[in-house]
Amino acid sequence: MKILKNSNAWKKNHDLTGKTYGLLKVLEFKGFKKLYDKGGKRRSHFLCKCKCGKEKIIPGIQLHNGQVKSCGTCLIHPKYKIDENYFKKINREDKAYFFGLLLTDGTIDGRKKSKRIVINLDKKDSHILETFNKYLKTQKPVSYTKRKARKYKYYNYPAREYCTLNISNVKMHKDIIKLGLKPNKTKTVKFPSNKIIPHRLMRHFIRGVFDGDGSVFLKKYSYGIGKSLAFVSGSFLFMKSFQRYLKKYKIANTSVALIKRKSKFTGNISSYSTLTINPGEKKYGNKGTKDKKIAALNYKNFFNLIYKNCSKDLYLIRKYNKFKEVINI
Ligand SMILES: [Zn+2]
Repeated sequence: MKILKNSNAWKKNHDLTGKTYGLLKVLEFKGFKKLYDKGGKRRSHFLCKCKCGKEKIIPGIQLHNGQVKSCGTCLIHPKYKIDENYFKKINREDKAYFFGLLLTDGTIDGRKKSKRIVINLDKKDSHILETFNKYLKTQKPVSYTKRKARKYKYYNYPAREYCTLNISNVKMHKDIIKLGLKPNKTKTVKFPSNKIIPHRLMRHFIRGVFDGDGSVFLKKYSYGIGKSLAFVSGSFLFMKSFQRYLKKYKIANTSVALIKRKSKFTGNISSYSTLTINPGEKKYGNKGTKDKKIAALNYKNFFNLIYKNCSKDLYLIRKYNKFKEVINI
């Protein structure tokens, strides 16, 4: 069947002039041609104008089925500018801090085609991802997700609101792997050497680790108030080196434990490691004045180590406040 450009029937059904698809406004019909060089049906093509001002001829069928929604750079492959050399070298406080946070709370894609670096945090802590964005010099927004409570297999997942920073960048992906965060390596991740993080910046890295995997809290026991300052990691190796490094800062009363747990549902054994500063303190909280003094000093040393003269925007406010509460009791 021959289709005439001016056929009213065709126009009524197929002319897309004046319509909008995503960021594209259809300006005019340009004619029929095959979609691909070799074979295939002849298709109508339209001149479109993208919101960014660029004009492009696009097959009507691709507009109609939603395959094309912009000039090709605005929407399909949104290219957000980013300082892709950010993790090439850890030579600044912010880089050391964010690398610590990434190493503990981030994940890196191991699939061939995907070069994603993802970090997920509770919505309460979103300020730190917004700050990370600022340092990365990217316009890519932090995304916010609300998840309803759900049941999966034997587990109940509570409702959660979280924020995500999702970076897709080949160069940065490569650099981060070089620094020591490898895909699916939570069990073997190593504590970075001073070649990776110079000693003068290590305390900022440790603050990132604390914000990612550390916890500090008070708990009421029968004998009084107990304090706890601890880290949890999948990697025993990481914890052992971390413990050694803390000695350089005169934080010596620590213990590392490998904990194995059998799931009461599946029978599977999972393991994780902990590093506790002032072990036993939780248990013996108010007993023994001498121990208490040593313990207090240890907490204070660690607090000063990570927060003293650090940038005001480079820590989780929630944890900082909690820590202050704990050392002041
Ligand atoms: Zn465009």
